[in-house]
Amino acid sequence: MAALWRRRERLRRVLGLCRTVRALSGKEYDLLVVGGGSGGLACAKEAAQFGRKVAVLDYVEPSPQGTKWGLGGTCVNVGCIPKKLMHQAALLGSALKDAQHYGWNIAQPVHHTWSLMAQAVQNYVKSLNWGHRVQLQDKKVKYFNMKGSFSDPYTIRGLTKAGKETIVTAENIVIATGGRPKYPTHIAGALEYGITSDDLFWLKTSPGKTLVVGASYVSLECAGFLTGIGLDTTVMMRSIPLRGFDQQMASLVTEHMESYGTKFLKRCFPTKVKRLEGNRLQVTWKNTDLGTEETDSFDTVMWAVGRAPDTETLNLETVGVKTNSETGKIIVDASEATSVPHIYAIGDITEGRPELTPTAIAAGKLLAQRLFGQSSELMDYDNVPTTVFTPLEYGCVGLSEETAVRCYGSDNIEVYHAYYKPLEFTVAERDATQCYMKVVCLREREQRILGLHFIGPNAGEVIQGFALGIKCGATYPQLMKTVGIHPTCAEEITKLHITKRSGLDATVTGC
Ligand code: FAD
Ligand code: NDP
Repeated sequence: MAALWRRRERLRRVLGLCRTVRALSGKEYDLLVVGGGSGGLACAKEAAQFGRKVAVLDYVEPSPQGTKWGLGGTCVNVGCIPKKLMHQAALLGSALKDAQHYGWNIAQPVHHTWSLMAQAVQNYVKSLNWGHRVQLQDKKVKYFNMKGSFSDPYTIRGLTKAGKETIVTAENIVIATGGRPKYPTHIAGALEYGITSDDLFWLKTSPGKTLVVGASYVSLECAGFLTGIGLDTTVMMRSIPLRGFDQQMASLVTEHMESYGTKFLKRCFPTKVKRLEGNRLQVTWKNTDLGTEETDSFDTVMWAVGRAPDTETLNLETVGVKTNSETGKIIVDASEATSVPHIYAIGDITEGRPELTPTAIAAGKLLAQRLFGQSSELMDYDNVPTTVFTPLEYGCVGLSEETAVRCYGSDNIEVYHAYYKPLEFTVAERDATQCYMKVVCLREREQRILGLHFIGPNAGEVIQGFALGIKCGATYPQLMKTVGIHPTCAEEITKLHITKRSGLDATVTGC
């Protein structure tokens, strides 16, 4: 009881001090966060735990097609959450096929209704929007539904949708405004007729026959679930799939998608989109292999050609916050500080950081702890695990084989690998050709693990656990001492013993 009282008194004293400092400086808030997405909300809520006066500005500029959404940023509204739920819808379709092999009598024909899925997903997303608002209120974080821009280094000018202006001042400002999908505006008809991932998850009716342009995370994930729910889906890929990822794994991912039914237009790039009668879209593209011009019509064209930060409207140059002139992203140091000492930036808006929700959240929390707690801990961006939620998922942590070879030389790298068959696939007679895993190690005595790659069911769940080991510097001998859980796919990782160098058949046989 006495300890509780002492803590309360201490907090009161700290709060009193904060109020005095704020009053002296004339600033309204200790912290103002511009952007209420993954990183911004995490930072604001963490700062509020320290008893600080915190405000968040969040504003969603409607997409060029007019789609808009609520508080929570990309992940909640037009990213991870609706994507994973729609991926789940597709996985259920495959499970229905498997189910018949397991004795379930499923009346034919089975079909999927987009509007039912979309409504359910959108309702869930709206509940998250509401949840975020309630959390801000509970933590006494002031929320402004306004678009922010700097008017001086300590002042943000907020504008509501109706054009009403509010001026907010703060001792510290965090920019967490994320990014938005790019449109290839040089392609005639791209902006008028195309959609992006910002629209896809909010469509009320099925996109129908869809062309997805691009070949990275967003493109392959969306094309994967569209195929999975039974839509005629084509991916247009101008170069390689999943740039930056291990290319052996990336090829297996697209190979599986092809066998799953996704069509691929390889080494092609679009040149024109035209609206035909009946709302169909005619797309013209160049096939660089054949040197030909080709055309086809689609119900929907979705651009998944990367994302760009919207730094221009923030008025950063007036306050001296430096950006990368090519990417437009904000340059930060290891402590997330920009070129202006009391202005910070976190998440997708920052140069050189992974564009992932967990890194944005962790960076935001750690920043608040450094600003208002006793902490000096920096965000560690090494060995960040990730998963591409394609029909057969691909999860990885650490270096790709190519990067490991580039950094250490091929003589110093050992790769252990296996083609395996998930037990669930056997009875269901599913093809497991692309179920593959590899661990990339240093070839010295310790054999430290540099990278772990896994294609198969629930790859995200598998890699999440192993990521801890790799973060702790796990070695290949330690991996071999790890006892597997039988019968799982993950246990195959603890049994990897065939080196790529040996050239031996890496197919797992037996139980
Ligand atoms: P955001 O979440 O984008 O939030 C920024 C907020 O700031 C937005 O609400 C924006 O409207 C607002 N804003 C912008 N400008 C202003 C302004 N001037 N004033 C006020 N508010 C402003 N990551 C994963 O880890 N796993 C996944 O499975 C995954 N799937 C994804 C799927 C898709 C289709 C996409 C597009 C992304 C996915 N991501 C995934 C990436 C993840 O969503 C982002 O990395 C994450 O949301 C970034 O968080 P952030 O805080 O930097 O920005
Ligand atoms: P990326 O920048 O990773 O990929 C863009 C893709 O579009 C590339 O394949 C690129 O090809 C292609 N492209 C670019 N311009 C054109 C053009 N003019 N014509 C045709 N193709 C073009 O962007 P994404 O939007 O896929 O992903 C952005 C980020 O979002 C990712 O880095 C990731 O961090 C995050 N994300 C995370 C997810 C997850 O965790 N599961 C899921 C989805 C997104 P090329 O390689 O030739 O340049």
